[in-house]
Amino acid sequence: LNAPYDPDNIFAKILRGEIPSVKVWEDEHVLAFMDVFPQSEGHVLIVSKTSTARTLLDIEPETLARLAEATRRTARAVVKALRPEGFQILQFNGEAGGQTVFHLHFHIVPRWSDRPMKG
Ligand code: 5GP
Repeated sequence: LNAPYDPDNIFAKILRGEIPSVKVWEDEHVLAFMDVFPQSEGHVLIVSKTSTARTLLDIEPETLARLAEATRRTARAVVKALRPEGFQILQFNGEAGGQTVFHLHFHIVPRWSDRPMKG
């Protein structure tokens, strides 16, 4: 949890435009984009464009507030577009906590009662 931020993590590369992504929404602070290995249809990731926080422990309150509001706004858009019966907001911290990309992010995972949960 205490390792330094790696500026060459995948999401940093996406933010710099070095790796392509399917963008869902963005403003000057936040980017929402599709997960390439979705746990369900409409799986979206939300990251800060400015913060170099690896985990929830590192992030500034104001940046977290922006990220949380962007996550809610994006969830609303996903629900409107795909009409899931529910959705999950997921957030992993540290390798042992299931994190694989070390640039803080939230997942929006739409859920349907008749579709199995992969994750
Ligand atoms: P974590 O386990 O760190 O919370 O989740 C990282 C997420 O990033 C995973 O759901 C994984 O599918 C997604 N991911 C990994 N590599 C890429 C990529 O190159 N592009 C996109 N859009 N998502 C990725």
